[in-house]
Amino acid sequence: IQEKKHRTIIELSETLANKIAAGEVIERPASVVKELLENAIDAAATQVTISIEESGLKSIEITDNGEGIARDEVALALKRHATSKIKDVDDLFRIRTLGFRGEALPSIASVSELTINTSVADNADVSGTLLVAKGGQILQNDPAPKRVGTQIKVENLFFNTPARLKYIKSLQAELSHITDVINRLSLAHPEVAFTLINDGREMLKTAGSGDLRQAIAGVYGISTAKKMLHISNADLDFEVTGYVSLPELTRANRNYITVLLNGRYIKNYLINRAIVDGYGSKLMVGRFPIAVIDIKIDPFLADVNVHPTKQEVRISKEKDLMLLVTKAIKQALQPETLIPNALENL
Ligand code: ADP
Ligand code: MG
Repeated sequence: IQEKKHRTIIELSETLANKIAAGEVIERPASVVKELLENAIDAAATQVTISIEESGLKSIEITDNGEGIARDEVALALKRHATSKIKDVDDLFRIRTLGFRGEALPSIASVSELTINTSVADNADVSGTLLVAKGGQILQNDPAPKRVGTQIKVENLFFNTPARLKYIKSLQAELSHITDVINRLSLAHPEVAFTLINDGREMLKTAGSGDLRQAIAGVYGISTAKKMLHISNADLDFEVTGYVSLPELTRANRNYITVLLNGRYIKNYLINRAIVDGYGSKLMVGRFPIAVIDIKIDPFLADVNVHPTKQEVRISKEKDLMLLVTKAIKQALQPETLIPNALENL
């Protein structure tokens, strides 16, 4: 008979709680890039530079020209559930920002060495801030010269979570996860100019002109962008716009389909199916289009609070949305609309 020993309940330290949350939100270097870029976009940045070393495992440095963080709020930003994006329960049902959980920075901080250099543009603060933390412990929080926007550097990711570090296999794979994150966000936010530098070499640069077709050209090349048809459809609840490839331009998997919902890249099997349905018999079996589908919806009808990474969204009236997407694509592929549309200038 096993001895039943009483184990006392204790409340975990904040650092430990953050580390547990990090297990969900921060899977790999690309997750850090995603969260930091979302923060830059939420801060209304128009130019963001992502500089990484060793596919982000050694360092990830993200520099934005956004609104910055006030001197007396920088340390708070490292606390769990601390956010400037929602205030009460009602806000949870009308989320317009990419972030809202107040989890990314504390999670990242708990598994890395983090440096934040930031200031706000207005004169409310006389100085900026330089904050340094390691494994979630703040080591330094000092006034610093004013700068434009925010620079966040994440070094030695997973230095204190050896199991996570072991699970990372190849630098090449991590780099491609990072470029995928940047590509999707540049399609979701054509108004932002992104630059990716890996080990000192520029890998990727987007125009930031605000034009989706130009963003598509940046990601998939100009000749592909020229073979994309504009789509547009709306009902009372949804507005669907975007670009889909001509039926002759296909790929062997669904990775070239990007579904955006209120500026967020989401994973949604049903919408993917609705896109393919729009092609009817025009697609060969096992082939998939290149597509960027931009859905605008009243935030009240979308529940983003499903998963910590916010890639899954529950949409009410999803069936209506699917039909709308399918119809928009069908319409664009009609022979009479096909030609002039395809010749649209890039
Ligand atoms: P969330 O994005 O869910 O609010 P985060 O942990 O990602 O939570 O960030 C916490 C807070 O720090 C944000 O709400 C925001 O106020 C501030 N912040 C983080 N990154 C930036 C940035 N690049 N520019 C301006 N403010 C930022
Ligand atoms: Mg965030």
